[in-house]
Amino acid sequence: MNISVVGIGYVGLVTASCLAEAGNRIICVDNNSDKIEQLKNGRIPIYEPGLMEMVQHNEKAKRLHFTTELKEAVEESLLIYLAVGTPSAPDGSADISAVLSVSQGIAELMTDYRIIITKSTVPVGTYKKATELIKSKTNVPFDYVSNPEFLKEGAAVEDFLRPDRIIIGCDSPQVREIMKQICNPFMRKGNRIIFMDPASAEMTKYAANTMLATRISFMNELSALCEKVGADIEMVRQGIGSDGRIGRSFLFAGVGYGGSCFPKDVRALIHTGKENGLQMQIAAASQQANAEQQARFAEKVLKYFAGNEKQTTLGVWGLAFKAKTDDIRESPAIYCVERFVKAGIKVRAYDPEAATAARQAPAGAIETFDNGYDALDGADALVILTDWQEFRNPDFEAIKARLKKPVIFDGRNLYEPEYVSRAGFTYHCVGRKTVSPG
Ligand code: NAD
Repeated sequence: MNISVVGIGYVGLVTASCLAEAGNRIICVDNNSDKIEQLKNGRIPIYEPGLMEMVQHNEKAKRLHFTTELKEAVEESLLIYLAVGTPSAPDGSADISAVLSVSQGIAELMTDYRIIITKSTVPVGTYKKATELIKSKTNVPFDYVSNPEFLKEGAAVEDFLRPDRIIIGCDSPQVREIMKQICNPFMRKGNRIIFMDPASAEMTKYAANTMLATRISFMNELSALCEKVGADIEMVRQGIGSDGRIGRSFLFAGVGYGGSCFPKDVRALIHTGKENGLQMQIAAASQQANAEQQARFAEKVLKYFAGNEKQTTLGVWGLAFKAKTDDIRESPAIYCVERFVKAGIKVRAYDPEAATAARQAPAGAIETFDNGYDALDGADALVILTDWQEFRNPDFEAIKARLKKPVIFDGRNLYEPEYVSRAGFTYHCVGRKTVSPG
């Protein structure tokens, strides 16, 4: 089948590649001509495990075609997916202008029936707004489907190919059948489609992200209390995670959540509540707790070096908002690094994938290295801010040899405190007792 995807970012490129992998021919449209040029030349602008191979393989098989021309997409495809960004507007609402402008563009180009499918995360009511907008521009029949995306950066390809569930918000039985056909290759183990009305589909995405963000914030808030009362958040995590009603996911305390989704989606849900005369108190508390957690960790480091900031250098491991991605959008690591730099501290940083993006971020006054150990040369402490797998079992002797003093601040609780203490370090982590060299 000929399908188009408009907006070739993290979600769009993964969607396009996975649909191509299932045998469809995909036209990928983006208004960023640099990005399209790169893709035409076989380079992919983001890091996502397994994606590069899939893009190259499907491009070779002529199932992926890249263009800046929406016209080509609208003319040639029955199905048009939208995966454009919906960033936060200054008032916290989701800025859906790209979704509306592409919808209008499609309306103006359409000469025959089309199905427009939104993968972008959009607030409840967007379906209605976009539908009315298209109807005001054309008499050509169309259907609009809300199909929110649940992939996780770092595991996006795997999540798309083997989803826990696919949410389809659409009232038309015929369109539901077509969507089922498109999704079938990704449901080899059984039907995972949940059909619902578009408003519920739109809400489901915000509910899922806010629920997950809230779990993290709850654990982070508990971690602060654990530090005060001498409890250990890791023990608490294991204790409650073994309760089947609670489950083990999203219970890790750390330096706070970030990324391109949780912060903006929590903000947007709060805003939607406000627009409807409701205070989303749990979402607001989750947001507040997250801001405090990020600040608390940065301040723990800053307090340790208070008065000596200008003479202090930190070796930082991790800049991405989480492991297995180069995405630094609203990364807690970037927040911390900015706080350090602002205080006059020098930062030498290493991230396996996100260094290039971080150098262009406001925290640009940092030096980055191609190797984690090189970033530690002459530093007064190691600060861990992202949970990359390669940080989990490092050579502690090499770390000690490179650092001026054997001090680690771990914003991801990667190590057993006793082990690090025996290795000769002072180890500060989150929600657990600080240990001295033992
Ligand atoms: P992104 O910023 O990586 O990609 C968006 C792309 O859309 C960019 O390449 C941009 O150039 C393009 N674009 C913007 N306006 C356009 C226009 N008018 N015409 C053509 N292209 C245009 O964003 P993303 O992270 O892929 O997120 C896309 C949507 O999916 C957002 O609504 C996001 O909330 C949602 N989402 C993201 C994730 C994630 O993990 N990143 C997961 C689920 C859902």
